[in-house]
Amino acid sequence: MKTRIKKIRLKRKFFWRRLILISLIIGSSILTYTLLSKRNQQEVFGQAQYPIQMPPNTLSYEALNKTSHSQTEAPVNSISFNAPSNFAGTVVYDVKLPKKEKYVALTFDDGPWPNTTDQILKILRQNHIKATFFMIGENVKAHPVQAKNVLADGHVIGNHTWHHWYMHMNPQLAASEIESTANIIYKTTGAKTTLFRPPGGILNNGLADYAKNQNHSVILWSADSEDYRIPSVATLIKRVMKVAPGGIVLMHDGGGNRSHTVTALPQIINKLRKQGYKFVTVPELLELQNKQQPSATAKN
Ligand SMILES: [Zn+2]
Repeated sequence: MKTRIKKIRLKRKFFWRRLILISLIIGSSILTYTLLSKRNQQEVFGQAQYPIQMPPNTLSYEALNKTSHSQTEAPVNSISFNAPSNFAGTVVYDVKLPKKEKYVALTFDDGPWPNTTDQILKILRQNHIKATFFMIGENVKAHPVQAKNVLADGHVIGNHTWHHWYMHMNPQLAASEIESTANIIYKTTGAKTTLFRPPGGILNNGLADYAKNQNHSVILWSADSEDYRIPSVATLIKRVMKVAPGGIVLMHDGGGNRSHTVTALPQIINKLRKQGYKFVTVPELLELQNKQQPSATAKN
């Protein structure tokens, strides 16, 4: 009897030990599973929360994914402003068109700028004219809304350096002036541009050399309004009216008081139209040159 009772006790003892062991195994399995699945959730959540910067104009998911890899990679729906390939790495003052081909390109520098950029955009919109805006990087940063408005109205954007410095620059500084401006234009508007205008039209301070090495087109002008000197409206108009077919007109939407430019612009447009002129962007003007027999004022 005693041995039987002992056996039963032993069996009970083993039963409880097994039960505890099994419970421990099941318990630890559940704990491990819970911990693992939580970690997975965190990983998925972490990916979704990964900060993705994208230019405001890019809307598609593909563009978003692309931009997350590299800021410099163009989103799917980004816009690129380029001269025709034969103008890459060249300096352009104007294009030679037959006298009956009355086309001019209006260009506006040193913006974007509060008030005047929008006033000029309004005049151009009312007259169904597309122009070219050479923007300063620090002004794009300071006035992003105006920069976006330029693009939204269908105008062409060019690079006019970050600081608008005239001094001689080594290749590193020249690169920084041009590339930082390219980046802020891209981040702000989603547009890329290989159109470059050196501040002051200076070709020998390192900036134009860098731009040409990058195969950008250095765009100068053939008719200077000298509006930055704030001449009378009549003088400003007279200077612009010296333009010839294929010409590029220089005016300013930013960089100072541009009220004379804003006042003169509708009269300039009317006078040129009366003479039979049509208005195109800089890349369009260069395309027109290519449709003729090439003899552009393109200098290396
Ligand atoms: Zn300028």
